[in-house]
Amino acid sequence: MIAVNPAFARIGEENAFAVLAKAAELQRQGRDVINLGIGQPDFKTPAHIVQAAVKALRDGEHGYTDATGIAPLREAVSADLHRRLGFDVSPDLVLIVPGGKVTMFMAILMFGDPGADIVYPDPGFPIYRSMIEFTGARPVPAQMREENGFAFSAEETLALMTPETRLVILNSPANPTGGVTPGEEIDKLVAGLARWPNAAILSDEIYGQLTYDGLAHRSLLAYTEIRDRLILLDGWSKTYAMTGWRLGYSVWPKLWRDMARKLAVNSYSCVNSAAQFAGIAALKGPQDSVAAMRAEFDRRRKAVVAGLNRLPGVSAVTPKGAFYAFPNVSRTGWKAKPLASALLEEVGVATIGGPDFGVHGEGYLRLSYANSLENIERALTRMADFLSRPASPNAGLEKP
Ligand code: PLP
Repeated sequence: MIAVNPAFARIGEENAFAVLAKAAELQRQGRDVINLGIGQPDFKTPAHIVQAAVKALRDGEHGYTDATGIAPLREAVSADLHRRLGFDVSPDLVLIVPGGKVTMFMAILMFGDPGADIVYPDPGFPIYRSMIEFTGARPVPAQMREENGFAFSAEETLALMTPETRLVILNSPANPTGGVTPGEEIDKLVAGLARWPNAAILSDEIYGQLTYDGLAHRSLLAYTEIRDRLILLDGWSKTYAMTGWRLGYSVWPKLWRDMARKLAVNSYSCVNSAAQFAGIAALKGPQDSVAAMRAEFDRRRKAVVAGLNRLPGVSAVTPKGAFYAFPNVSRTGWKAKPLASALLEEVGVATIGGPDFGVHGEGYLRLSYANSLENIERALTRMADFLSRPASPNAGLEKP
């Protein structure tokens, strides 16, 4: 047998894509499936953004660009960070990447090696752990607890740090829980990080513009004392409904941005040039679509949480951000993954089992409410019917 790099035995993936494929397969067979599994806005990219990409293609923007992204786009990112959050970030520290995910790939590669520890949220975005394991670093899960609204606990996170900690990954607002870490907790965390000056920080703020109840997003860029070791991950996918465009950006300290640029040159060369022009239009154009999408998600959030709390054996805390609910299903008598499979097979509702987001995800399901209110209500009715059924061993339902 030809040997491949043994690291490939350790790399994981995202089950949301497997659930998407399974739901599509059931739909092909004529089943009516409501997909609350996949984490992408169900809106179209606003027309003026699409127009900008079409224009770029018509104007002949067909070649390679600078590996770090075209200057007007990096300048637009810098101006947007100033307009939105009030921070000064030089365009020279911005790297345009093909999707937010690429920033985590680069950052984890940069700091992960055997002997290093990387602290990451659990339940959390599955790629963090997958990439940590791939590099041979030790994954150190920081538990996100329901009783904290799935926010980071500064004390618990800091207690996990050791002299071997090379990278701490933060994510607020969070996938899969919708948890938002309060500003005071972030203050405490950053203050405690002063004791660990050799640890880099990756702040995944891809849902930063999706917070509710008047809560302002607290970016880690606010803390100038950690700027020299902070990597900010953001992008267009969620804010502008552009998941398929593959467009993201990151802000790095100078030396690390140059290392990241080399990774770009060694892999994808540059981001699709038309998509970069679309990115400029998104940041410089009208922002009303962002506010409208947020308002619609908020309506759905309220409906989904109220509906979940009416289901037998289910309780859900109110998520403060992103577009996910993470209900506790432990009192249904089901383990989370068999429940997610049964809901899909039996009543055509696609969700993701909490364990797909880490060991601390057992007992929970992730529901993405990036679907119409009507479909959300239909899905909740189907879930209520299913959970009210007497569990029969003949029903083929795999109770734990
Ligand atoms: N970070 C988090 C927490 C996410 O949930 C996602 C996508 O689901 C990403 C990053 C990646 O976004 P992109 O599609 O831009 O790669």
